[in-house]
This record gives sequence, structure tokens and C-alpha cells, in this order.
Amino acid sequence: MNIDDQGRLHLQVRPSTQACDECGNPGPENREWQLMDGRGVLCRSCLSRWIEKTNKQLGAIDPAPKGYKAQAGDIYVQEVRPNQWNLYQFIDHAWQYLFTISQAEVDTYISQLQSIGETDGSLGKRRYYRPFHPVLYRPRRPGRRARH
Ligand SMILES: [Zn+2]
Repeated sequence: MNIDDQGRLHLQVRPSTQACDECGNPGPENREWQLMDGRGVLCRSCLSRWIEKTNKQLGAIDPAPKGYKAQAGDIYVQEVRPNQWNLYQFIDHAWQYLFTISQAEVDTYISQLQSIGETDGSLGKRRYYRPFHPVLYRPRRPGRRARH
């Protein structure tokens, strides 16, 4: 999933002649979208409604720390529920979800990075970090193997 420095979703779409999955609006101006394993066809208005909803769920409306500008290699973790944080890294001009870590892993592993700031958004706390060698730094899921 590609998310830009404002936390907005970037969806791959291409023109489709199929009817809209949502409202049945026939083509030819519809868009076929693709996101990870999912795909479907939506008309323009259903698509923009869906993207807006998704962006709200992603917390795009949550502000970054004051004066903060994302740089390649930066990381943020977002608390999605108690003891569960999603880890994102800024790669190729977009925030990309990498994996989920526990509270203990945030405390022991992530807190070793240079802290940039913290926000308290509608979807939970976010902590931003800048690794000491940002471009080279690739977070690894600590402790156990990635579940995917
Ligand atoms: Zn539609």
C-alpha cells in the first residue's frame, strides 16, 4: 500500500468498461482499482467516496508533528490498539506499511531511534523517528519472523 507524506492513500487505477461494483453505473468512464490482493471496478464518484473514506481510516486527517517534513528512511509507528503498533517507513516518497509490532518492541527496539515527535490523532498515537542512517536503515521485525 502506498501512502504519501500526508498519509494519503495512492491507488493504482486504470480505465474500465465494466459496470461500477457499488452503484451499477455502466462504463466507459469507470475505473478499475487494484490494492494489494484486492481489485474491483468503481465509477468516479463511488471511487472518490471510497478513497476519502479510506484516507480517513488511514488517519490522513491527523497532523504530523509541527514543522515535520518526511525524509527517506523515516519511520512512524501508530498505535492501532493496546499492545499493537503498525510500523511505516517513508520509501520512494510514500509511507509504506511494513509490519506490526508489540508495545514491548516499540519500547525496546523503536525507542533506540532518534525521536522526531509524537501526535495524538483520531486513530491513536503516532510516534515519528529518524534513523541515524536513514537511507540505509531497513527495519526488521524484532524477535520473531514476519507473519505474512
Ligand atoms: Zn458507482
